[in-house]
Order: sequence, then C-alpha cells, then structure tokens
Amino acid sequence: MKAPALFVGHGSPMNAIEDSPAARGWAGIAARFERPRAIALVSAHWTTDGVRVMANARPKTIHDFGAGFPQALFDVEYPAPGEPALARDIGVLLSPFGAALDESWGLDHGAWSVLVHMYPEADVPVVQVSLDARRTPVQHYEIGHALAALRDDNVLVLASGNIVHNLRTFFAHQDRPAPPEDETFERFIVDAATAHDHDSVVNYRAHPAQRIAAPDWDHFTPVIYGLAAQGENEAPFFFNRELSPGIAMTSIAYGLPA
Ligand code: ZN
Repeated sequence: MKAPALFVGHGSPMNAIEDSPAARGWAGIAARFERPRAIALVSAHWTTDGVRVMANARPKTIHDFGAGFPQALFDVEYPAPGEPALARDIGVLLSPFGAALDESWGLDHGAWSVLVHMYPEADVPVVQVSLDARRTPVQHYEIGHALAALRDDNVLVLASGNIVHNLRTFFAHQDRPAPPEDETFERFIVDAATAHDHDSVVNYRAHPAQRIAAPDWDHFTPVIYGLAAQGENEAPFFFNRELSPGIAMTSIAYGLPA
C-alpha cells in the first residue's frame, strides 16, 4: 500500500477548533485514502539549525502561538503517538543531510490544527521532520525527495505551510481586498505544479510577486517538500483553493486512489 503525499495550507491555528471550509477539506481528503500506517510531517513551525527528526514516543502538543488566541485553542490536546523506530529509519534515510534524532519537540500547530480534522482519533503515529534553516530551496527539494521513499511503506508524507503567507498583509488588509500579487503567485504555483515544473517552484524567489505573497521561507518551504514527494505519473489534485489577504489555503495531493 503506497500512501499519498500532501501539501496542506494551514492558515490560522483557529482552524483547529472552527468548522471552516479548510477544516472540512482536510477531513474530506483523509476520507479519500486508506488510513496510513504513520505520518512523516514537515511543518513551517519547526525550524532548526540542522535537520532534526522527532524521536519522542509520546510527543507533547505544543501551543506555539501568541496570547491573543482563546483558551479553547490552548486546551486542544492531540495525543497521537510518535514512533521512535520510524524516526530512526528517517534518520538513516536523511543521514546524507546530517539528520539527527531530537526529543525536544512535539507536535506544533502546523501539525495538529490539520490532524485534528484528518484523524480526530489521534491514532496514527506522527514523526515530525524539521526545516533546516541553513538549507537552500534546492536542498530542501532533495530532502523532500528522500522522504518520498517512505510512501512505499504506507507512510503519509504531509507538509504543512502556506503558498501565500504574509501576516503584514493579513492584518493590514482586513477591510480591503488582497494585493493582486497574492492571486498571481498562487496561480503561478498551481500552474507550475500542474505542468510538473518543479524548477520554477524551487526558484520561487525569482517570481516578481514573491516578496509580497511569499516572503516567509518557513511557510513556503513545505510546498517544496510536497512537490518533491510526487511519484512518477502522479498528477496533482488541488483542494482548499481559498484566498484571503496574505493567506492561501491551497493544498495539493499526490497519489490519491482513483
Ligand atoms: Zn503557520
């Protein structure tokens, strides 16, 4: 059983506790394929110096957002197990990139705000892999390509970020339309993924709309992981194509059953 590869736009942590269209989209996509044996997850919210693989057997739920959110969000617990054996396997797989096992992390909101909707029972083991802040987009693509091998063992590769992510725009445009760069950039990425043109995505900083639409490397880089995990002859399936100023929820799936 080969598991799909997913890139999901996660947006606000509030999606964890709200019945949003995005939340329904995540639940809907999980219903389209068999439950994976485990999840290898890359989140915009775990950036490190060096590649780290979460080796905890019982990862804690990390509430990594500011005090302005309601208590109900701080009360969310997502008690999915880790899987130390899988973490070790991923460590070996990523040893060419100097990966090291790490027990300091847990599940951040880039992971659990999505997973609470995909697997509300929290019964699929999750191993997070960090984003190494020292790497170039090309190197991130290579790491994502290495992770793709896990899919053959029914391990879902799940990358969580946002194609468009600019919190300055988000706050400044509450009462006005999004800057045109947001839509231009989202379409550029969708078109490139449709054309299997991964080079353009890896070189996203060359696009004139990038500085407005995707200035945050940590939120864009998971897109690169999603594309890098594409299998041969797999076409992208786009869902949650929902734009608001500074945020695109657009998500991409590869390898869904027909
Ligand atoms: Zn985020």
